[in-house]
Amino acid sequence: MTPCSLHSRIFLIVLSHAASCFLIHLKPSNINKCMPNTALPRVTHFEKSGKRALMVINPRASCSSALKHGPCKFCAFWEKRPDGDGQLFESAAANAVELGCTRAEILVSGSFFDVAQVSGDERSGMLRHLAGLGRLTHVMVESRPEYIEHDSIREAVRCAGTKALEVAIGLETANDYMRDMCGKRFSIFDFYDAVSEIAGAGAFPVAYLLVGYHHLSKSNEDVLSSAYAVKKLEDKIGRRIRLALQAYFPPKDGHSAIVSAGTVAGMAVWIRNNLGMEVFIATSAEGRSTHPLAHARHVFEEFNDTQDPGTLSSVIDKRVVMPRLG
Ligand code: SF4
Repeated sequence: MTPCSLHSRIFLIVLSHAASCFLIHLKPSNINKCMPNTALPRVTHFEKSGKRALMVINPRASCSSALKHGPCKFCAFWEKRPDGDGQLFESAAANAVELGCTRAEILVSGSFFDVAQVSGDERSGMLRHLAGLGRLTHVMVESRPEYIEHDSIREAVRCAGTKALEVAIGLETANDYMRDMCGKRFSIFDFYDAVSEIAGAGAFPVAYLLVGYHHLSKSNEDVLSSAYAVKKLEDKIGRRIRLALQAYFPPKDGHSAIVSAGTVAGMAVWIRNNLGMEVFIATSAEGRSTHPLAHARHVFEEFNDTQDPGTLSSVIDKRVVMPRLG
């Protein structure tokens, strides 16, 4: 071998080694690590609630419905768009996994499927990112019914991969008159249509019911009859619909809770025992204020995770100490 061909061979070996190092460095997992997706919205409030990670993201705009028609009367979110930088979506998601969460909820103070708030690229980017996190089993997003379309839900289900995608709608009550009084501006038929689209596209519907708000007269009975109406729909479409009981919370600290923790717990037990539905009790105010049921939160988290009505007995029996509010 001539010195010249030896040099060429050494040069080729060095070159191929450099190329393979470069390719190894750029394999997909490293690309993700090296090139954070800066297009994803920032998470301005992160909260762990039982096995759920609540991630409030900074949307591009406030709730379109509120901007156009005025906010729903009970809404504590829309005018308080999160300020400050928050943290990278990727960091918050990693945090959720490290803390042992199996569910991630992306909260936008409005509608995840409204492109004025969250672009299509941001939507798929967030869902794809969560899809790659092994420990998570469920991802929940929220939307008003008018933004629920088959194609966008289908695409979201595809991006979420093996995670069960839940799409939550703030139904608040099954009573159209009372929902009008709350300023929600959609009918029970809009809700039925949206739920059918969600289920038909392969996602799982969630219905939020508002508890303890003074515009809902005879509020407690309304919650139970609303749960029954959702149960009938669940039977009809043949897909589970999870309920989420959201006790009204005032936008500022220092206001009294209208409904007690024991009352909300009693409703959840009734729904579990009589309707057999999956039901969560929400206790997050998403960083805006102190939730009126926060003192019973550890009990509600256990119930949410286990769905065992027995876990709520301490609250129903008033063994959980209630703080003085107001
Ligand atoms: S409750 Fe939802 S739909 Fe109503 S104003 Fe607030 S963010 Fe918008």
